[in-house]
Amino acid sequence: MEKPLRIGVLAVQGNFREHAAVLRRLGAEPVEVRLPEQLEGLDGLILPGGESTAITRLMRLYGLDEALRRFEAPVFGTCAGMIVLDRDHLGLADFRVQRNAFGRQVRSFEADLDVCATRPSFRDCEKPLRGIFIRAPWIEDAGPDVEVLAEVDGHAVLARQGRVLVAAFHPELTDDTRIHELFLNLVREASSVRA
Ligand code: GLN
Repeated sequence: MEKPLRIGVLAVQGNFREHAAVLRRLGAEPVEVRLPEQLEGLDGLILPGGESTAITRLMRLYGLDEALRRFEAPVFGTCAGMIVLDRDHLGLADFRVQRNAFGRQVRSFEADLDVCATRPSFRDCEKPLRGIFIRAPWIEDAGPDVEVLAEVDGHAVLARQGRVLVAAFHPELTDDTRIHELFLNLVREASSVRA
């Protein structure tokens, strides 16, 4: 049997338990990460949503910011986790993120995303993907290597740049596991290249 993928979940603040539950459901082994040494030997890492200001501050406090800049495996950032990856923060992805772009709490909403146009390899892509947006950001000013996978009102909310996958919404809060599956596929591809 295939050895379970070990996927870190940054656990300083926010929705890390929900991501861990989805990973378990998909047969991966979630590892809570609070310290730089816990990144060692991981096949991938999820940066959950929450409050990007708090996450950024805590990462710096624990030395995780420097460690993450050196981390080489695939990374998946959702919502606040996407903010933390942008040019103005860790700089692991070539875009800027507009925080609370849809407006504040009142503008939390759900939307069906079309993932077929851009990503035919998305499992059952003809089934719309329900996105839960909570004080969500969107992607602005993306560089040429950023592949936009879904948009809301013309704004990029799901994207990939090489080993980095980002979502402005919260796939860990629905029963639809397709985005986590997409991430685990990316992780498998990357680990077979490294092996
Ligand atoms: N608005 C939050 C921030 O700027 C992100 C919200 C979320 O992760 N749900 O950090």
